[in-house]
Amino acid sequence: MIISVASGKGGTGKTTVAINLALSIDNVQFLDCDVEEPNAHIFLKPYIKEQKKGYIPVPEIDESRCNYCGKCREVCAYNAIAVIAPSDNNKKGSVLIFPHLCHGCGACSFFCPQKAIKEVNKEIGIIEIGDAEDIQFIHGKLNIGEAMSPPLIRQVKDYVNPTKTVIIDAPPGTSCPVVTSVKGSDFCVLVTEPTPFGLNDLILAVEVLKKLKIPFGVVINRADLGNNKTDEYCNKENIPVLMRISFKREIAMAYSKGEPIVKAFPEYKKDFQGLFNTIINGKFS
Ligand code: SF4
Ligand code: SF4
Repeated sequence: MIISVASGKGGTGKTTVAINLALSIDNVQFLDCDVEEPNAHIFLKPYIKEQKKGYIPVPEIDESRCNYCGKCREVCAYNAIAVIAPSDNNKKGSVLIFPHLCHGCGACSFFCPQKAIKEVNKEIGIIEIGDAEDIQFIHGKLNIGEAMSPPLIRQVKDYVNPTKTVIIDAPPGTSCPVVTSVKGSDFCVLVTEPTPFGLNDLILAVEVLKKLKIPFGVVINRADLGNNKTDEYCNKENIPVLMRISFKREIAMAYSKGEPIVKAFPEYKKDFQGLFNTIINGKFS
């Protein structure tokens, strides 16, 4: 089973929920797909056994074959190619590639009628594989200044081990990196906080999951702060509230020291086990 943990808004406690859930159940694989800012390793402290390079395939033009027809520019949805046809001023013509805009979709090489495009790997980050006690741990780290995180997220997800319960820590937000991370999940936990910003971004995240047809439920963090509008929204939309975590100073202090809640306060383990059981049994109330 693949359970992704996402949040519209950053800073709601998404990683806290993901790591404590992982530490409370057996036979787990943990994928940190927040490749722009991975931080689960701070809490899980994995022993890294292997490091691999992450790539995106970008086009390279063989100008001896190209006739500057412009088909590649036409099919590129991301404006990553410009074609300058031969003219009196530029007798030869040229094709310009903007690698930072390229999503590595492969459309240009597929549609090039002259077979003038080959794909070359551009390094965009690294993938690290290790163990955190009994948990198989994998995360990606996007190179600084690199804009294209989905290809690296896909490479992290290539490691999904179907014999384990896979917990995916998704990036915050509701754009491509989140969609890439949660796609294919059996269930998504949306972590939110009861504030106007939290609710606004929760609503956006709910819309994304509905479109992707992924079952989901909500965990309200710092549930005793803020207002009750999040509960009202979930009631109205029939969205299950799976768990509430109260704001506690000792939890915040453990977090600031890189200590998972269930390590600092083992009595919380049963709450995360309860969250897992609710998800696998589908008994939402
Ligand atoms: S589609 Fe192929 S032949 Fe046409 S401009 Fe692009 S690279 Fe050149
Ligand atoms: S691989 Fe896709 S995104 Fe990249 S240049 Fe070609 S068509 Fe554009």
